[in-house]
Amino acid sequence: MAGVVLENVSRLFPGGKAAVRELNLEVRDREFLVLVGPSGCGKSTTLRLIAGLEKPSKGRVRIGSRVVNDVPPQARDVAMVFQNYALYPHLTVARNLAFGLELREGTGGWAWLWRWALPARQRAVWAERQAAVDLRVRQTADTLGIADLLGRLPGQLSGGEKQRAALGRAIVRQAAVTLFDEPLSNLDAKLRIEMRRELKQLHQRLAATMVLVTHDQVEALTLGQRVAVMDAGQIQQVGTPREVYDRPANRFVAGFIGTPGMNFIEGELTTADGANVFRRGGWSIPLDGRPLARHASRGPVVLGVRAEDLRIEPRRSGTGLGLVKGPVNGIVRSVELLGDSATATVEMDAATCGGEASHAEHKSEACCVVVRIEPRGNVQPGDCVSVGVNPGRVHLFDSDSGKNWCDATDS
Ligand code: ATP
Repeated sequence: MAGVVLENVSRLFPGGKAAVRELNLEVRDREFLVLVGPSGCGKSTTLRLIAGLEKPSKGRVRIGSRVVNDVPPQARDVAMVFQNYALYPHLTVARNLAFGLELREGTGGWAWLWRWALPARQRAVWAERQAAVDLRVRQTADTLGIADLLGRLPGQLSGGEKQRAALGRAIVRQAAVTLFDEPLSNLDAKLRIEMRRELKQLHQRLAATMVLVTHDQVEALTLGQRVAVMDAGQIQQVGTPREVYDRPANRFVAGFIGTPGMNFIEGELTTADGANVFRRGGWSIPLDGRPLARHASRGPVVLGVRAEDLRIEPRRSGTGLGLVKGPVNGIVRSVELLGDSATATVEMDAATCGGEASHAEHKSEACCVVVRIEPRGNVQPGDCVSVGVNPGRVHLFDSDSGKNWCDATDS
């Protein structure tokens, strides 16, 4: 096995389009890293740069201790699983799995056709090598639960079975690095969850270096030991699933990771009694529980808070949860039931609630927040409510750069 390092890698396509820009990424030896980002952000290009299917316009790609910029794909010891399976339609599952190994061992193609014409000693060598290939194919098929499908053609398989066969073809080679390009996106929701679990177990069993690309942040959080979030050809943050969820480096990561995405509220950073406070109109949230970066400056900022860090209470004129200075009142605009949980969309600064203008300064630009609520509770659209905030869980983003000022390393 081997780690992978991309150093200042850029990939420019004809016409000047930079699919990947000055990208730095380290995949540790035997790690399962998931590369996640929106469509067109450069994920597949990054994977293809590792595989050798694209050449960097700038920078270096290392696999293990070797710089592989000029090494062709077949000599990189990398296996790849594609979204569309890419199985040979005229070969059985067994032959699909064996194909790459036979090429490497020199037992396939002409060697196979002419094996009977070989002198006895060479034929014995051929038979020994082929037996090793067949054994590896059987062991891989057992690992993936497809031993009974080895005699079938790809056209005789379901989507999930094809996906397993494609995985088998990649892992049978025991390559230094295995790459997966959106391998689960053609599967239905139930099968995807099942395959996610299997992929994770497979990584634990094989302890191999794996890089998987997906646009699905749930898949990224559930599969990856670490997650690299990408946007516009650049890595925005690399961290464990918990780190990218709880401590997003910037507003993009905060909005992309998590369902529902983080709530963003525009306001200003100011001080009251010597302590940092976020203020919007008539209400403010103390930030004394959140260390801010040294360069955090007073003025316009964006507050970020997750749905589960907000709480709905009956409307009152005191302080929401005892944490927010001034009631943050609003009207429930909609309730969405998700089965085991539910969310309510609350229009804050709602001037019409209770017939009173809550926050005169902002009544023309009401903001909506999504709040996690009890699925069997009695919150209804049209309810006038107070929203409490857990100030220890809020984030503050620079209104220009989007950088997160909370939990910053230079704080
Ligand atoms: P998706 O999730 O939709 O597959 P992605 O994040 O994998 O997207 P890439 O396929 O890496 O994105 O593409 C990144 C950008 O580079 C896109 O804007 C794409 O149009 C562009 N691109 C990719 N391949 C080429 C090419 N051969 N020539 C020109 N532009 C390309």
